[in-house]
Amino acid sequence: MPFTLFNFSAPLQKAIKSNNYIEPTAIQSKVIPHILSHKDIIAQAQTGSGKSASFVLPLLELWSRDIDEGKAKIKIVVLTPTRELTQQIAQSFTTLGAFLGETSYAFARRPKVVTLIGGESIGDQLYTLQKGCDIVVATTGRFLDIVSKKQINLSFVKYLVLDEADKMLNIGFDKELDLVLEVLPSKRQNLLFSATYPPKMQTIASRITEDAIEISIDNAKPTVSQISQRVIEVNPHNKSALLRYLLKKHKFKQVLVFMASKRATDNIARKFRKIGFLADSFHGDLDQEDRNYTLKEFKEKKLQILFTTDLVSRGLDIADVSCVINYDLPRSPADYIHRIGRTARAGKEGMAISFIGHEEQAHFKLIEKRSQIALVREQIKGFELTGDAPIKERGKAPIKGKRKSKKDKLREQASL
Ligand code: AMP
Repeated sequence: MPFTLFNFSAPLQKAIKSNNYIEPTAIQSKVIPHILSHKDIIAQAQTGSGKSASFVLPLLELWSRDIDEGKAKIKIVVLTPTRELTQQIAQSFTTLGAFLGETSYAFARRPKVVTLIGGESIGDQLYTLQKGCDIVVATTGRFLDIVSKKQINLSFVKYLVLDEADKMLNIGFDKELDLVLEVLPSKRQNLLFSATYPPKMQTIASRITEDAIEISIDNAKPTVSQISQRVIEVNPHNKSALLRYLLKKHKFKQVLVFMASKRATDNIARKFRKIGFLADSFHGDLDQEDRNYTLKEFKEKKLQILFTTDLVSRGLDIADVSCVINYDLPRSPADYIHRIGRTARAGKEGMAISFIGHEEQAHFKLIEKRSQIALVREQIKGFELTGDAPIKERGKAPIKGKRKSKKDKLREQASL
């Protein structure tokens, strides 16, 4: 099915071409026609499936058909769980809307897109809003901060998008959502995108949308099949040397290495830089400017290796990651899929390698079970796993709720 079937205006067709999109992805084929017919959508889609363009393109089409005279008014609000995803979606509106000044519609112009995220000056963001804008892409927290300042006019909003909504389900999200819905006009088109739909998500979906079309693509994890997944057994003290060996052997161009703690990513990045690799760390302790800079360097291929925590495991669109390394295993099987989904994006092939020692065997088995995979344990000559599996001593049964588990502690260290 070609893109031309959607009857997008010429400037959008031009943008599609200049972005080298040849055919719509599965989610785009299913979602775009419904958005164009003004339907609410509940879509199950993973990152890497082309889901951003599946709402950006039709929203730009609808928006461009009814631009008013005078100062820009906010018509589209997109809420996301992370700063990086916010910037990425804003970028997508800008690039796909780049030629919109060239239509025959009255008052045709390119959309003014504003990102509202924490870590950047709220004053600057308020100033940009006051100058007038058409599309707001925001993290929910900063969006509500700005709303509370009463300097944003949302009375013209026609479209609300919640992207990666399952990642917003933290404690307090219900309240935040109440506030968001309170400030938006009740008559609007709602688009909800989420990788999973646990019961809580379904409740939220029914609160936001009305007579929504539910869409999931048969192969909900389209990219995973193109990822060659490997698991290598190695002792913890040999992981760093094994990583060096693999980088040399496979000559990976762009590698994301996931670790359990922020400090570990800083330390190892420093060590790899010292021995000549283009490496850096990326995690939640960096300020926004550093995060943007590092990500830009990585995207522009000025960095080969990015050592990171789970901060980037969802949502981020880094096109050419050739390999994802789970230096430390993710805590949850769902995070495993999200992490490895950073490679093999948009039809490309990729590799995902997990390092496991004696301690991680049981946890990796659980990941395999939940992800419905079964991988052969490899050992690499010179880095073989030695020693015996630790024998679990039967101590007193833990008192529930008294002590944090080791994984919880790791999780806390790696917290975003
Ligand atoms: P997303 O799932 O939105 O994060 O998109 C993943 C990547 O696929 C992004 O780099 C998009 O630019 C790219 N993409 C989106 N739609 C298409 C398409 N129809 N053809 C090729 N690439 C696409």
